[in-house]
Order: sequence, then C-alpha cells, then structure tokens
Amino acid sequence: MSGGAGHNMLEDALAQLDAVAERIKLDLDVHKRLRQPQRSLIVSVPTLMDDGRLDVFTGYRVQHDLTMGPTKGGIRYRPDVNLEEVTALAMLMTWKCALMGLPYGGAKGGVCCDPTRMSRLELERMTRRYTSEIILFIGPDRDIPAPDLYTNEQVMAWMMDTYSMQRGITTPGVVTGKPLLLGGSLGRREATGRGVCYIVRAAAKERDLPLAGARVAVQGFGNVGSVAARLLHEEDCRIVAVSDRHGGVYNPGGLDIPKLVADHTAEGHVSQYRDGDRITNQELLTLDCDVLIPAATAGQITEQNAARIRAGIIAEGANGPTTPGGDQILTERGVMVVPDILANAGGVAVSYFEWVQGLQQYFWHEYEINERLAQIMGVAFQQVLALSGTERVDLRTAALMLGVRRVAEAQKLRGLYP
Ligand code: NAD
Repeated sequence: MSGGAGHNMLEDALAQLDAVAERIKLDLDVHKRLRQPQRSLIVSVPTLMDDGRLDVFTGYRVQHDLTMGPTKGGIRYRPDVNLEEVTALAMLMTWKCALMGLPYGGAKGGVCCDPTRMSRLELERMTRRYTSEIILFIGPDRDIPAPDLYTNEQVMAWMMDTYSMQRGITTPGVVTGKPLLLGGSLGRREATGRGVCYIVRAAAKERDLPLAGARVAVQGFGNVGSVAARLLHEEDCRIVAVSDRHGGVYNPGGLDIPKLVADHTAEGHVSQYRDGDRITNQELLTLDCDVLIPAATAGQITEQNAARIRAGIIAEGANGPTTPGGDQILTERGVMVVPDILANAGGVAVSYFEWVQGLQQYFWHEYEINERLAQIMGVAFQQVLALSGTERVDLRTAALMLGVRRVAEAQKLRGLYP
C-alpha cells in the first residue's frame, strides 16, 4: 500500500467509516452499502515503449458512490497504485464532496507504473490507452477525472482528447484540471494549495497564532506543497522547511520560497538548495515549527512519530497522511489536525467550478474563483469546527460525521433500486 511501512489505506478508511457510523447511529443498511464501492474497474493497459517492447500496465477506476451525482476524483500514476488504495481514496472523495456541498460522489483512478522512468511519448500512449479502456465508465455526467500524484494538465489534455476523438465530439467536461486553452479554469492549478493556505489561516486564527512569523514546515513540493508554501510565504509565514521525494531542506530563519519554486522547476531537488541544512522527510515532520503541512503521500504521520511532532496545527494537504494510530496520539496531545477531506478540498472545489464553467461555456475571472473558493472553504471549516465543539470530537471525526451523514440522508431519500 502507498505511504508508510505497508499501512493499508482501505482498512483505515473502513475503520474511520465504522467509527463514524457508530457515533451518528448510521442506519445499518446504509452503512453496509457505504462500506463497498458502487463500481470498480480493473483494466490492462498495453503500451508500446520507446525501445519497441510492449509493457502491460494495470489501471484502475473506482466509483464509490453515485447517490449525489456523477463521481469525481483524481488519477494517479505510481508504482504502488493498487485496488485497495484507489478504493479508499474514492471513499474519501465521497465524504469530501459531501462535506463541501458539491453535487458529486467520490471516485479515484490510477495506473500502476513509474512515471519518473517513462518518456513523454510513453506516458502519452499509456494515458490514451488507459482512457480508452475506461471510456464507458467516464463522462461529463458520469465520472470526471482530475490530476493527482504524478499526473498534470498535460495528462488531462490527452485524456480529454482521447475521449473526444472516440466520441467524435470535443468534450472538455470529461476531465477537470485541464490546460486553460482547452477549457481549464483560472486558479485550478493553485486551488488545492490555496485552499490549504486558507485553512491554515482559519486554524491559526482559531488557535490565536499570528500568521506573520508563524513557522511552517511543508512535506512534498509538488502541486499542493509548493503552492501552499508560496502563498503562506506571501502571508509572511516563515517557511522553515520543505521537501520532495529526494529529501528536504531546513532553515530556522526561513527559506527563500520564490527562489526555491523557481529553481525546483529547473533542477528538481529542493535538498540541493544551499541556504539551509539537508534533512530527511522523516526529520521534517518532527521539526520545531508551528504549522506542519504534509503534502506528499499517505501514511507519513504514524504511532512511531506522532508523539514527537511539535507543530500545534497540522493541515493535511495530502490524502491520508496520518494513520489512525498517529491521529489518536495527536488528538490526545491537543494538536489541531485539519483533516484531508477538508484541508485539501480546494482542488475538487475549483474542479467543480471548472466543470460548471465548461457546461455553461462561460468563464469566470480569477478573483471570482478565489473568492468563491475562500467562501466554500470558510463555510466548511466553520461547520466542522462547530460540530467538533458541540459533539466534543476532533476535527476529522466532525468532518466525517458531516460528510457521511449527508450521503446517508441522500441515499435514504432516493431509496433502494429496485
Ligand atoms: P505532485 O505529483 O505534484 O507532487 C508530489 C510531491 O511529493 C513531489 O514533490 C514529490 O517529490 C513528493 N513526494 C513523493 N513521494 C514522497 C515521499 N515519499 N516523501 C516526501 N515527498 C514525496 O502531487 P500533488 O498533486 O502535489 O499531490 C500531493 C498530495 O496531495 C497527494 O497525496 C494527493 O493525493 C493530494 N491531493 C492533491 C490534489 C491536487 O489537486 N493535486 C488535491 C487533493 C489532494
């Protein structure tokens, strides 16, 4: 499974659901239905490699729940992608969309491959074949993929093109996170990191932590982590550490984030940055800081390191970065953990805006998008905070309670077919 030492994301996701079901006294029949994904598809993706060989990759797309509308969720390319992980992530997407009030169910997909060792042409051929294998499963009113780990706007453009060519009609609404020229939305690329930034601002206010000068450590310097670091730097936070999969860099006096962002695109490794000490990804997590943003992979904060984490606020940019064991320790220690389904929901929120703009063929200004994003994140944060207060539970439990309850109510209203 992805993330820390073999931990199983699906077991974690099911344990979370079971605990919340008990707390909200979830109808048993609804609970049974929500434990299983509605549809799962496994496909083989034969791909011609540049040296003339054929490789056969395995691809997945899981739609967890279609009660509220079409499903929505990212596509990841990683060597450890598997059905359990994709199922767990699809389930998390269901709760996330419901929590944010979006008219979607949750989905997730991926291809088991190592994109860092593939050429652009190989990636294109694999993406196109994967898309045609899942083509009956996806569509603007069916299931709408988006970028996730190691996929980006270009991958979305290839998916959109493949779908459109097979249908004989240009269909931008089949994916979100597209390039602007193909119907992408302003602000989508930055949306998840921007959402994380809004959440850190709200959490800091709640904890009476002045944002100016607050010490922030960010694990993962990709789409989510680098944008969150840049925007928090612009808010006068002191970004003391960042990392990517090769390792990290630490400077208690604060890192020059604009320089790191510029160099990172060119060179690739943040640990090559000279103005700080090299650290490992594990060391980054337990640094002396006020805010920790795990924005890389799952299973990073565990029973092994949770007691040593010094940040008072954790905003989960990544999906599933904290294991249940780690979570329990953090909660007991009074650390404010803003869970993934809230903290990183800016991506799916602006994906929703992109989808709406595409359906209407009417595109908004960037300031409108950012304003609406701030609003949607703010409302969800306040709802979660309020419920955590009245129910005396941590923010993750409150967020899940809200999400699961909404889906359960919708299922009840629709009833069981046939
Ligand atoms: P990305 O591919 O753009 O970047 C991933 C970053 O993490 C890179 O810097 C990479 O070097 C680093 N990384 C990979 N493995 C690592 C490891 N073991 N330890 C430390 N760093 C590692 O991916 P992204 O889109 O930024 O996604 C990051 C996380 O955020 C994922 O968990 C993803 O599911 C989640 N997420 C992304 C979005 C989105 O809109 N992109 C939305 C919601 C959640």
